[in-house]
Amino acid sequence: MANVQDSGLSMLERFREVNRTFPRNRELVEWRDRGGKVFGWLCTYVPEEVIHAAGVLPIRIVGYSQETDLDDGNAYMYVNNCSFSRSCLQLGLRGEYDFLDGVVGGSTCDGARRLFDLWRQYVRTPFHHVLTVPRKYTDRAHMLYHCEVLEFKQHLEEYLGLKITEEALYHSILLYNESRELLRKLYDLRKQEKPPISGAETMEVLNASFRMPKEVFNQWLADLLDEASRSERKSSGRVRLMLVGSVLTNADFVRFIEDQGGMVVTDELCTSTRYWGDPVVLDSGLSLTEAISRRYLNNFPCARMFPSEERFDRIIQAALGFRVDGVVSQTIRYCVPYAHDLPLLEKRLRECGIPMLALDIEYGTSGSGQIKTRVQAFIEMLEAKRR
Ligand code: SF4
Repeated sequence: MANVQDSGLSMLERFREVNRTFPRNRELVEWRDRGGKVFGWLCTYVPEEVIHAAGVLPIRIVGYSQETDLDDGNAYMYVNNCSFSRSCLQLGLRGEYDFLDGVVGGSTCDGARRLFDLWRQYVRTPFHHVLTVPRKYTDRAHMLYHCEVLEFKQHLEEYLGLKITEEALYHSILLYNESRELLRKLYDLRKQEKPPISGAETMEVLNASFRMPKEVFNQWLADLLDEASRSERKSSGRVRLMLVGSVLTNADFVRFIEDQGGMVVTDELCTSTRYWGDPVVLDSGLSLTEAISRRYLNNFPCARMFPSEERFDRIIQAALGFRVDGVVSQTIRYCVPYAHDLPLLEKRLRECGIPMLALDIEYGTSGSGQIKTRVQAFIEMLEAKRR
């Protein structure tokens, strides 16, 4: 357990088991044994509530949780597509996602879009749909994205031969909002001086969150929160860190940073804060589909959104709220949206007096000797600054 002392949290084992056994985890197997359909989604801009309201279990498609050869992925995709896309594709080509009944993507970046095209062509999951996701927040962009959500809903209804009712949508929104609220509480625990749960452990919970039914996940998370808030565990990390950048699912990478003396207390990743981020706002006078589409387009933004200031402002707000000493950015090689934004983000953080370490990594890495030296030097610098 990365630099969090005292006894373990028993509930964490449940989440770990889901990740360790995925896609043969009990919750998923039981769902399918009951005849339930499972759709995979490729990007955080895909509205999960719509899939859930159709009675289908949405799960996230991610790549290998460790660095590995990507021969199959490289055979179909240029190597200057990010290793996340190639890793997902390789798992798809090797049949690891053969249990899926559908795949849903978004036109969010070249890597994600090419992944969707190749998946549709070669993995051949029965149902497929891609949403056009605008890069801006203007009224026209919101209208466009709402139309995309309506089109997606209609496509689902036609394919499944059912009607997604307002009641079902409302129920799904409440369920997903509950999940977001519980995750926010989990993050709030990490505002403590010595948090009872580490960044690596939080990532294990998050990885499980998109691999099982939310109904069960919410219950488990409520139990974990209860256990963690009563626990005597305390992190022994020496400096508080925020992790930002490209998609990250390998908890060992976070553990690797924490083993050097850092406490990862918050983050800005599409597998964490940007996944659970904002709730769907009800009672705003909007229709349910519009409330959903607004939430997804206005959520904690990906680096692909323009202008970047909204994302930078939110990062700074989180960095201050969690009292971080420094920010660690990890950019997957050839992840163009994050690589492009990096110098601008570094400038904004510098203006706010927040130091940043920028790491270039491959998706799935658990760290390396070179990264270790740089993380250690960064932590020592932050410690010296604190004195
Ligand atoms: S945002 Fe970056 S890591 Fe994510 S799919 Fe696009 S290029 Fe790959």
